[in-house]
Amino acid sequence: MASADIGLIGLAVMGQNLVLNMAEHGFNVCVYNRSSEKTDDFINRRVNELPVTAAYSLQELVDSLAAPRKVMLMVKAGEVVDAFIDQLVPLLDAGDIIIDGGNSLYTDSNRRTESLAEKGILFIGTGVSGGEEGARFGPSIMPGGNAEAWQSVKPIFQAIAAKAGTEPCCDWVGDKGAGHYVKMVHNGIEYGDMQLIAEAYQLMREGLSMSADECQQVFAKWNQGVLDSYLIEITAEILTFKDKDGEPLVDKILDAAGQKGTGKWTGISSLELGIPVTLITESVYARCLSALKTQRVTAAKLYPTENKANYSEAEKADLIDAIHDALYASKIISYTQGYMLMAEAAKAYGWQLNYGGIALMWRGGCIIRSRFLEEIKQAYEAKPELENLLQAVFFEKAIKQAEPQWRKALVFAIQSQIAAPALSSALAFFDGYRSEVVPANLLQAQRDYFGAHTYERVDAPRGEFFHTDWIESG
Ligand code: NAP
Repeated sequence: MASADIGLIGLAVMGQNLVLNMAEHGFNVCVYNRSSEKTDDFINRRVNELPVTAAYSLQELVDSLAAPRKVMLMVKAGEVVDAFIDQLVPLLDAGDIIIDGGNSLYTDSNRRTESLAEKGILFIGTGVSGGEEGARFGPSIMPGGNAEAWQSVKPIFQAIAAKAGTEPCCDWVGDKGAGHYVKMVHNGIEYGDMQLIAEAYQLMREGLSMSADECQQVFAKWNQGVLDSYLIEITAEILTFKDKDGEPLVDKILDAAGQKGTGKWTGISSLELGIPVTLITESVYARCLSALKTQRVTAAKLYPTENKANYSEAEKADLIDAIHDALYASKIISYTQGYMLMAEAAKAYGWQLNYGGIALMWRGGCIIRSRFLEEIKQAYEAKPELENLLQAVFFEKAIKQAEPQWRKALVFAIQSQIAAPALSSALAFFDGYRSEVVPANLLQAQRDYFGAHTYERVDAPRGEFFHTDWIESG
């Protein structure tokens, strides 16, 4: 009987938990998975009394759905999504809706929205963040695509989404790939937050010779203040976790980080749009450097570091405070850069992004959820046309307050021979951004010297270009 509210394809971690979340909110869900044994296992082990039925073919799935049909894909991003769309289209009617909830590249969602619209099918490309736990109990959901589809999907998505207070962490983001773009930037910011925390950890662990337990106490304390966030919270929990021999498990984990591509996509988009998203990009490179384990082992023998200095308890406490402020200020820079990127993308792709609304969507359910996002939301609510987060009074004060300690933490990193690419790239960006004059005059002179690329003059109107014959007239 065609009575299910939504069909979901893909019963891996995210799909299973989203289905349970939807069913618990009273929606009838029909599920399908390529490997039918996973469908059976899911139905037998996890569904219990919830309103979930299984389909063993796409035809069966489509036939089970009430009109307009809503089919959500939670499968591996890329070609698998296109393959399912190709199989679904002949089975659907005009006005039916395909939703892709995976981590798809926004340009793929642009393309899918357009090509499906030509066939009368409505498409939503949505970011879903929060991992397994979020999917089960309330993710952050960032939908974009064909706006006509939103009213049909909204009641389901807003019911299952995390709530910030009473407000759902889910709202319409914009046309075509806008939802997946915002999710991509979310993931890029997640890379940045994780790298900043990792650098703060290494400064304490190696630079100040602190134990995992001591670091845990610091992170737990920081989680009570302005850095209060899911990632700081889980970092403290990770540091308490002991392996079978009683040693911290974190010490047994190989220092070679993996990545699935969303941080890299953010970096690529920033280069394409000409926005300096330096902290996220450095965080991606830090993972790349970490993966060069064999080379690092060789280089460590070639260039041994000097013995670490000893610090008194008072000096240590002071440096921990400095690391805290450096982390906070750098986080402000990272979000500033992420918002600058979204603003430029909105201009380039014709999206009307609601920046306060995006902060609200990230306020709960997702991996970067934090107290700090409330301040961003308020800054944009107070001034929706805000040009840059660093111009908001709250962040101006916060940066000014943190600045001396931020520098101190970086001096400590340099003296301790500890790489802190995210913390230092944030400061380099800030020092450049706050400079009325940067040395690009010399760059322009060099470009004109070797390539006759011309330059503008400070004493002539903008847009008037000059060339000098540097060799003949010098
Ligand atoms: P996943 O490991 O990315 O994908 C597994 C699912 O894709 C399974 O249902 C699998 O079917 C199906 N699949 C893979 N290759 C296929 C093929 N060639 N043909 C048909 N089906 C195929 O699952 P996931 O971790 O739950 O993630 C789902 C999506 O959400 C992904 O785009 C992911 O990037 C995104 N996401 C994941 C997380 C997370 O924390 N895991 C968080 C946010 C977003 P079989 O069972 O038959 O193999």
